[in-house]
Amino acid sequence: MKVIIVVPCYNEEAVLRETTERLLDMLRTDAPVASARILYVDDGSRDGTWPLIGQLAALHPEVAGLKLAHNAGHQNALWAGLEWAALRADAVVSIDADLQDDVGVIPEMLRRCAAGCDIVYGVRRSRATDTAFKRWSAQLFYKLMRALGADVVYNHADFRLMSRRAVCALMDFPERNLFLRGMVRLLGFRQSEVYYDRHERFAGESKYPLRKMLGFALDGITSFSVRPLRWIMLLGLAFMLVALGVIVYALAAYAAGKALPGWTSILVSLWFIGGSVLTALGVIGEYVGKVYSEVKRRPRYVVEQVIGGDSASGASDRARG
Ligand code: UDP
Ligand code: MG
Repeated sequence: MKVIIVVPCYNEEAVLRETTERLLDMLRTDAPVASARILYVDDGSRDGTWPLIGQLAALHPEVAGLKLAHNAGHQNALWAGLEWAALRADAVVSIDADLQDDVGVIPEMLRRCAAGCDIVYGVRRSRATDTAFKRWSAQLFYKLMRALGADVVYNHADFRLMSRRAVCALMDFPERNLFLRGMVRLLGFRQSEVYYDRHERFAGESKYPLRKMLGFALDGITSFSVRPLRWIMLLGLAFMLVALGVIVYALAAYAAGKALPGWTSILVSLWFIGGSVLTALGVIGEYVGKVYSEVKRRPRYVVEQVIGGDSASGASDRARG
């Protein structure tokens, strides 16, 4: 079995040496595979990540590199790597560069794959190393996704193994708004999970500040469910019912000659209705924006340079298709 490990990297020069050591160590001692490679996808880093990948590739024949022309984002970078790996490997493992995920469970993933599993999810046993806020917000996110009818694996990020046919099936998804952990779930095939303890980031800092994290959550929700639109309609209907009551009340008050002291109720309903209309517009705008970016069909990423590529066609060939 041939395996490629895809690692998206954005300004990760502080960790890549250690990551390479640990991955190679695991591959050379434990992994039940005939050949293994590590593909670093440099997602338009601004530090010395790309030259470092070059050095690592010169040192170790297993290391290859794909440099994207700009910062396409984690999900797009991962896609670029999967696309490159799809036709070159029997199984592809994706893992973050920062060593938060446990490299040690990859051999178990590979064994499951050899036994006929197409997708093996790496699932975090606990969130002990996260801040309380991240733990709470992540929990909320998974619950919300479930409530919205999207099937996501609890506490699974983008650490997973996919067989070649699963990756190829994924590559047939044409959408530009990528939320890979949800999309992979839709593929079907034989799936299983391995559990691990997540560590602290080895070095460097998180590339997902709060703003990006919220954006990612919103993308996940809106690209997997249209239920928020329905909720808005229900909210609108509820308001109309309330409005009916208010009208009856207002007319009765008018008839009774007590119509003047209405300032409070007018002010309250003005703000409340104004706010809900704006919220509703915002949610609809979010979906309209999604449709807009989908119809443009822009490439997901642009490849600038490849190190250690072989004669097989480049990653960008399929991307434009
Ligand atoms: N990453 C990327 N492009 C980006 C942001 C992040 O390729 O625009 C990579 C990053 O280098 C890392 C992975 O995505 O390998 C996950 O990022 P990070 O560990 O910073 O996120 P966190 O674990 O804090 O959620
Ligand atoms: Mg991380």
